[in-house]
Amino acid sequence: MHVNTQEYIDKLINDLKAKDSHEIEFIQAVEEFLPTIIPFLEDNPTFIEKNILSLILEPERVIQFRVPWQADNGDWHVNRGYRVQFNSAIGPYKGGLRFHPSVNLSILKFLGFEQIFKNSLTNQPIGGGKGGSDFDPKGRSDSEIMRFCQSFMTELQKHIGPDLDVPAGDIGVGAREIGFLYGQYKRLRQSDMGILTGKPVGFNGSLIRTEATGYGLVYLVHHLLKDKGDSLKDKTVKLSGSGNVAIYTIEKIQELGGKVLTASDSSGFIYDSEGIDLKLLKEIKEVRRGRLTEYIEQRPNASYQTGSVWDFSVQADIALPCATQNEINAVQAEILVKDGIRIVAEGANMPSTNQALEVYQAGNICYLPAKAANAGGVAVSALEMSQNSQRLSWTRHAVDENLNLIMKDIYETISETAKRYATAGDYAAGANIAGFAKVAEAMYAQGLV
Ligand code: NDP
Repeated sequence: MHVNTQEYIDKLINDLKAKDSHEIEFIQAVEEFLPTIIPFLEDNPTFIEKNILSLILEPERVIQFRVPWQADNGDWHVNRGYRVQFNSAIGPYKGGLRFHPSVNLSILKFLGFEQIFKNSLTNQPIGGGKGGSDFDPKGRSDSEIMRFCQSFMTELQKHIGPDLDVPAGDIGVGAREIGFLYGQYKRLRQSDMGILTGKPVGFNGSLIRTEATGYGLVYLVHHLLKDKGDSLKDKTVKLSGSGNVAIYTIEKIQELGGKVLTASDSSGFIYDSEGIDLKLLKEIKEVRRGRLTEYIEQRPNASYQTGSVWDFSVQADIALPCATQNEINAVQAEILVKDGIRIVAEGANMPSTNQALEVYQAGNICYLPAKAANAGGVAVSALEMSQNSQRLSWTRHAVDENLNLIMKDIYETISETAKRYATAGDYAAGANIAGFAKVAEAMYAQGLV
């Protein structure tokens, strides 16, 4: 059967838009992904003939449930909970839980879809999934967070397990929430299995998991620069976010001799020409759960501005978006080009719109996509699963060394795949094709088509 690959891809996208027109973020992720894998599909027409892409665009299972919980003042609330079990071709579903008012099925499907290929790139035996709730943890007491997590897990526990689905954290879900979720799972199931990763180190967590996404992002940039005969020493960085990913990105950049000039939250951003004071930022964000305005009270030479950091010009070598999806649009990408940014590496998932990606390409910005760049977190989650299965605790050094090797391997894989199927330096195509190839081959071998 002769099928024109471009027509096939166009039809898939049009069908998706007709069926799920409201799932804007999911459609965006698919529209970025499909065109880049055309050269691979043309080399492997079986995947088109068996229509494997239609299969890969459809989650294996979507679970939606209600989450009732009581506030401290006695009021009752109900939120929506979800788990999208997208693809288990190469291992149990694996991907974080997000608690944020913006959460809906479209956002979780885009995150779950990206997760399939990211997990594949890590070379660990993990499939793709994502979940969460439209619950807003901001301003809630520890007791309210605990009651919400307990109610959420009361339903979720029916659908997860160490060989089935192993969630982790994401926006709004850190060590505190994972602790509450884990406690409720144990209470209900009388079992201490590794059903969540990102657990505190005191009860079956892995060293370096907290740091892994940020450290992994910086390792990937390090390997890219090394390949070009350069290093992070004295490089300046424009960064967004001030949560888990942002904080440990800053830590590793500083360790490798670079300087991070900015950090942000959903209200505004700080600019510190002397480099972000990480100890102070951790104190504000991790200990006090405060706002960035508190930073300038103790660093009078720094400045605070409301709005998005990407609307402002900051001369730097590297941009590291570490907050959320679609934080950089085409106009903001033009600012990066004008400011002389040479590399954009994504700590957040899908922080650049598809129009921003076109601007990077036209402006010769070297682009490291989230699928590769933030894979360090899930990679160390997979190492945590291994440690849990073996009842072992690896040393900090062992986990960190493994993480660095995984990121080096990812850099080499996406670099070689780009050279083979696209153009040298097209790391987006490299990541999409390398991630897809393994999953598609596994699905085919398992008779899923
Ligand atoms: P956190 O909840 O720890 O931090 C999120 C940060 O992003 C906060 O500074 C938050 O500000 C900001 N933010 C959230 N939503 C918005 C918004 N709509 N507009 C502007 N800023 C916003 O989350 P993480 O650091 O864990 O996650 C950040 C990104 O990294 C996400 O895209 C996530 O999917 C991705 N990621 C995370 C991994 C992990 O291991 N944690 C792994 C791989 C990817 P505020 O406090 O004001 O809300």
